[in-house]
Amino acid sequence: MKILRTVTELRNWSRALRLETEPETQLDTRLETRGAGAKIGLVPTMGALHAGHASLIRAAAARCNAVAVSIFVNPTQFGPSEDFASYPRTFQADCTLAEAQGATVIFAPAVEELYPAGASTFVEVEALSTRLDGLSRPGHLRGVATVVAKLFIAAEADLAFFGQKDAAQVAVLRRMVIDLRLGTEIVVCPIVREADGLALSSRNIYLTSEERVRALTLSRVIHHAEGLVAGGQRRSQVVVEAAREMLAAEPSLRVDYIELVNWASLEPAEFVGSGTLFAIAAWVGNTRLIDNTVFE
Ligand code: AMP
Repeated sequence: MKILRTVTELRNWSRALRLETEPETQLDTRLETRGAGAKIGLVPTMGALHAGHASLIRAAAARCNAVAVSIFVNPTQFGPSEDFASYPRTFQADCTLAEAQGATVIFAPAVEELYPAGASTFVEVEALSTRLDGLSRPGHLRGVATVVAKLFIAAEADLAFFGQKDAAQVAVLRRMVIDLRLGTEIVVCPIVREADGLALSSRNIYLTSEERVRALTLSRVIHHAEGLVAGGQRRSQVVVEAAREMLAAEPSLRVDYIELVNWASLEPAEFVGSGTLFAIAAWVGNTRLIDNTVFE
């Protein structure tokens, strides 16, 4: 499988594919319609790929003629005391997994390729990027929006695939695509979980076996909240309080946030309705985990 290292290579790959398969008459409008010829899919990741990423690549391969998987540990979305340096990097295994799931190319740029010396342009989705993870990880969602904007501009993809697991990120990126008229459609895929409920995450490898057991509280809380709402409970305060009690019963967990919000605005929701996001973040030892569910 081809490994592309520069923005120019990625752009040329995407444009060549489109020219190959698109009738000439449609070329003039190609940037606006994008869907007319070969459908190009993009799956942005930071590597250390697992079954959650695999599900995104499969979804992309099912809907697109060609799929680029980006592997880039993005420095601007890490805080100064976070795990940028120690974030797991498993490039060879990632390439094997991506290819097996239907990726056409890997885009793996160096940091200087996406952030040239003196880089000072950032994408800030106001209000949204200071909610949920953006509140406890200042600058995180700005870093995510910035790198995804760069990837979208370089790849000129029709569709880009993201996991519901990072629900605040999805809200920010949806807003960014609308505001910047980026022309890439965001497709959100369900959270992939271990058999016992733990949401897959590249950071799960940081957990000791004892912490791994404690981490299950997060998915239990999500499941409990789903049960309350299925049983007719609509008051957010009641759902959040129940979640808080369950998390408090596991003293080794430190809650970052428990929130019911409108998934589009990330503003608190007083009542649970269609499109309400129930999201939690908690520290298990030194590892911060997130989980969520969206009510229909
Ligand atoms: P990351 O490599 O952690 O930046 O994640 C890359 C993409 O994979 C993001 O869109 C994540 O939401 C998605 N992802 C991570 N974990 C899961 C999961 N357990 N299920 C589905 N998608 C996931």
